[in-house]
Amino acid sequence: MVAMDGPSGTGKTTVARKLADRLSAGYLDTGAMYRVVTLAVLRAGVDPADSAAVAELASQVGLGIGTVPGQPEITLDGQDVGAAIRAGDVTSAVSAVSSVPEVRELLVAEQRRIVGRVLGETGGIVVEGRDIGTVVVPDAPLKIFLTADAAVRAARRSSQDTAAGRKSSVDQARESVERRDHLDSTRATSPLRAADDAVRVDTTQLSIDQTIVALCELASQRGMLAPCTAAAEASR
Ligand code: C5P
Repeated sequence: MVAMDGPSGTGKTTVARKLADRLSAGYLDTGAMYRVVTLAVLRAGVDPADSAAVAELASQVGLGIGTVPGQPEITLDGQDVGAAIRAGDVTSAVSAVSSVPEVRELLVAEQRRIVGRVLGETGGIVVEGRDIGTVVVPDAPLKIFLTADAAVRAARRSSQDTAAGRKSSVDQARESVERRDHLDSTRATSPLRAADDAVRVDTTQLSIDQTIVALCELASQRGMLAPCTAAAEASR
């Protein structure tokens, strides 16, 4: 089991998925779960700042999330919302929704259920988010905290948005990334922070493949995987 945390724009999602694939493990994107609840809040016309109303609505959300690394299925009431949860309105509101303690309690319980099921089925899982190593699975044998300079994270986020057809400038992306980091790291309930025993990996100067090689090395040191090389990664 691998717990992967870090702020947005560090390459976490791509890296976590590839690592899961490499380990023949399942994959859980917990950020997508907070995004689905946020989408439901917005669709219901509930104010994301109204914690009591958000908490009540969260208990009724029909959330579905896949755990196969190559097939990221995300549904709300049975409908595919994979694109809708990445839209700007959800990104702007998600930190407010995810700071509500009842929402976290509900989703952390669901995340632990999913982890237990996937571990039973495949024997391994890579879980990514903000509080995975500190709260969701603090006993994970490998905890990684991905970081990168804010300017690099903003540039990555902006090009991801542009590739997905969403309007984005680097300045807008930087403002959005920094605002979310601030809210996520200063909230009272399970803020974004590295677990004391997490390995910090700075991806500022690393490509995705180089990051995967570094993580494979950490996984192989813990007996989860045979050692891998950059050349082998590049040819995958
Ligand atoms: O990872 P992603 O950027 O999709 O996460 C969206 C938001 O969900 C984060 O900004 C954070 O507010 C929230 N989140 C969280 N705890 C997690 C994962 C995500 O609070 N484990």
